[in-house]
Amino acid sequence: MIESLMQRLGVSENAYRQGDFAITSPTDGGVLGQIRLEGADAVEARVARAQRAFEQWRRVPAPRRGELVRLFGEQLRRHKEDLGALVTLECGKIYQEGLGEVQEMIDICDLAVGQSRQLYGLTIASERPGHHMRESWHPLGPIGLITAFNFPVAPWAWNAALALVCGNSLLWKPSEKTPLTALGCQALLERAMAEFGDDAPDGLSQVILGDREAGERLADDPRVPLISATGSTRMGREVAPRVAARFGRSILELGGNNGMILAPSADLDMAVRAILFSAVGTAGQRCTSLRRLIVHESIREEVIERVKKAYAGVTIGDPMEGSLVGPLIDAQAFEQMQSVLDQARKQGASVFGGERQLADRYPDAYYVTPAIVEVEQQDDLVKNETFAPILYVMSYRDFDEAMALHNDVPQGLSSCVFTSDVRESEAFISDLGSDCGIANVNIGPSGAEIGGAFGGEKETGGGRESGSDIWKSYMRRQTNTVNYSRELPLAQGIKFD
Ligand code: NAD
Repeated sequence: MIESLMQRLGVSENAYRQGDFAITSPTDGGVLGQIRLEGADAVEARVARAQRAFEQWRRVPAPRRGELVRLFGEQLRRHKEDLGALVTLECGKIYQEGLGEVQEMIDICDLAVGQSRQLYGLTIASERPGHHMRESWHPLGPIGLITAFNFPVAPWAWNAALALVCGNSLLWKPSEKTPLTALGCQALLERAMAEFGDDAPDGLSQVILGDREAGERLADDPRVPLISATGSTRMGREVAPRVAARFGRSILELGGNNGMILAPSADLDMAVRAILFSAVGTAGQRCTSLRRLIVHESIREEVIERVKKAYAGVTIGDPMEGSLVGPLIDAQAFEQMQSVLDQARKQGASVFGGERQLADRYPDAYYVTPAIVEVEQQDDLVKNETFAPILYVMSYRDFDEAMALHNDVPQGLSSCVFTSDVRESEAFISDLGSDCGIANVNIGPSGAEIGGAFGGEKETGGGRESGSDIWKSYMRRQTNTVNYSRELPLAQGIKFD
């Protein structure tokens, strides 16, 4: 299957059949390919090439740059099933979610094409006669993109589509767990470039097949003015100071610990469906997965019972074959989950689920029953992001208590409230409410649309990607003052003669 997918996507066998670093599928542990990890010299050469590409690409008018992104979007439409299946094979999310991820790429391409005609600045009133002030936006340079295994393609596309129309070149270091999807995306973009013609310079988009060390080289390189990094808070803590030390910019999209407040007035049918999708979807390996359910004490028992029933109906198995829950990414993720559940038991929490599944059929893959852990308080275990399907359940008496519990974690990515009380829903999204970058009402915390800004506060890193006015992050702002008079007045009325 992998050969035919890669062939249709336009990736040559040489690219993923040579080297000593094996890429395995979390679906069954089978080897998908062998790659050669690139070292420091290769990163150095790629940055130099990206710099040369940038110098040409910034001369191409922005709406014409948008045309390249339009052609890329067409390639994605044509190969949605192939790329979606490759996402499933390589990172283990179910095929429907693999398709959804590619759809997000198509959506951001559409947005970026329109944006390519809207890279506008302000005109500003000058205090001096015969003067104009304005703001203009200019391309930045080669943009470094570091991505995580769990969304192997969409976050790259959110950055890449906008960065390209803004006139930048791209250097992508994908997760070492999911490099094949990156090769697939690159091949599709290269096809779009070939169709686009000579205006698209050689080296406009490059993939660096490397591990943490390659990411560090990229983060340290002063020729890369912006690093957009998606991954764990641990990674962000390492990348951010490196980029800051050379006064580079960073966009950080790090870990989440997303909560739902479930009020007694809520539509419980809807809430239970939302809990199911957001807590067990992608086997709990979304940055926006629901990890904390804060439920009113009067409905706690009923809700837990209904959620357990919903969990029992979920099919766990091969993500290409219509299951709802696929595997964890690897043995390490499984061990981490088990160790957290053991710890919870030791602390007196009640643990439901969490067992390994299908071990006979897939000895080298890690399928689990999603776990529900009832806790009395929000301790350090709950405050830490465990990247696995573990849903902690806590109860509250009044809404202020729920809000305080909700915000009392180090992360600040996504959040939601289920309520039919307008006072509660408005309070949740007010200045005094959720401290997250995403705050939803009667919708789960996962599954954002690309039109809004995506990202979070606190240990989630503060970065924003995707829609809204995020294109500005990929450009540098310049303030211009133009004197069209025959005098030279100074600002603030200063006399200098
Ligand atoms: P990870 O931090 O292990 O790796 C992410 C990427 O960073 C990989 O490409 C890796 O090679 C690279 N990397 C690791 N250490 C580095 C360093 N010191 N310098 C430079 N690069 C380095 O994360 P993961 O396990 O692939 O992904 C899961 C994590 O990502 C979770 O914490 C999840 O919440 C987070 N995530 C966040 C978002 C978001 O938008 N906020 C989206 C997806 C995933």
